[in-house]
Amino acid sequence: MTTGSELTVLVLGSANADLVVAVERRPAGGETVLGGDTVVMPGGKGANTAVAAGKLGARVALLGAVGEDGYGSVLRTSLESAGVRTDLLRTSARPTGIAYITVTPDGENSIVVAPGANSDVSPADVDASSAALRSAAVLVCSLETPLSTVEHAVAVAARAGVRPLLNLSPVAQLSSETLAQLDPLVVNEHEAAWLLGEPTAEVNGAEDGAEVDGAEVDGADLARRLLALGPRSVVVTLGARGAVVATPQGVHQIAAPTVHAVDTTGAGDAFAGALATRLGEGDDLVPAAEYAARVAAISVTRSGAQPSYPTAEEVDG
Ligand code: ATP
Repeated sequence: MTTGSELTVLVLGSANADLVVAVERRPAGGETVLGGDTVVMPGGKGANTAVAAGKLGARVALLGAVGEDGYGSVLRTSLESAGVRTDLLRTSARPTGIAYITVTPDGENSIVVAPGANSDVSPADVDASSAALRSAAVLVCSLETPLSTVEHAVAVAARAGVRPLLNLSPVAQLSSETLAQLDPLVVNEHEAAWLLGEPTAEVNGAEDGAEVDGAEVDGADLARRLLALGPRSVVVTLGARGAVVATPQGVHQIAAPTVHAVDTTGAGDAFAGALATRLGEGDDLVPAAEYAARVAAISVTRSGAQPSYPTAEEVDG
């Protein structure tokens, strides 16, 4: 596939339509309840990350798949309006990925994800996009697309001198070869605990917080132990407590700006997109993570995921 101009960031990942409906209470088995009007929001970790980078001015493309349906068109349009190239977003025979989200008055979400076209993103898609991948400075992956595809893309990127960043969400067991290429591995504290063999019940749906299994986690300790598993560098995100960066040169705490958080949905994706943007521009990991913390802090002061992400002017202003 021809790719146009060079990229700073190539995101390999999911694009979902989030269908959100408010309900008074969740239906029991066999029961029907009425809800409010459906709100359709663009989502998926890959699309969120790409939009965060695009709004910050990165030359970014999303490598993934959507269905040949109305949601696919909506997602393409929202990506493009954030400056994300969609020429590597294939149209699949499977339906666009959809997250069915019910929200109760206490603010709790229940979510069913139907990955659809995201499951169809294959190593062959990576190979078909290899010219674009090789032109990028940074590859960003998460795990709402198949693990085998992500591992293939990381290997291709590493061979081509493209810096691979993996946000290990949702968690999965990586090969030691993949782990050794990551620069950085990005995890939240729950994913970190899982990787270290200390699984928590909340690992895929944890709210922001400073606790794993009731005890405050030591982010620096987590990051150091993750680095010992083999990645070239590690970033552990810690919600309102910021993040920790670990490299062979040392461990650095990244403070989160103090803000009034209204909605932390997609904060991790904002962080990853901003981190990749700055790494792609040549920043070292610590200043890139400091920038990402500023971007993610702004995102939590606004509702939603993609609509909450700031432009470069808003971050610098
Ligand atoms: P999510 O699943 O909500 O997208 P996550 O669990 O992957 O997020 P978090 O560690 O919760 O990741 O958040 C990512 C980053 O966002 C943090 O490292 C921090 O920089 C920023 N952040 C999150 N919550 C807050 C907050 N309340 N105040 C300031 N910054 C925050």
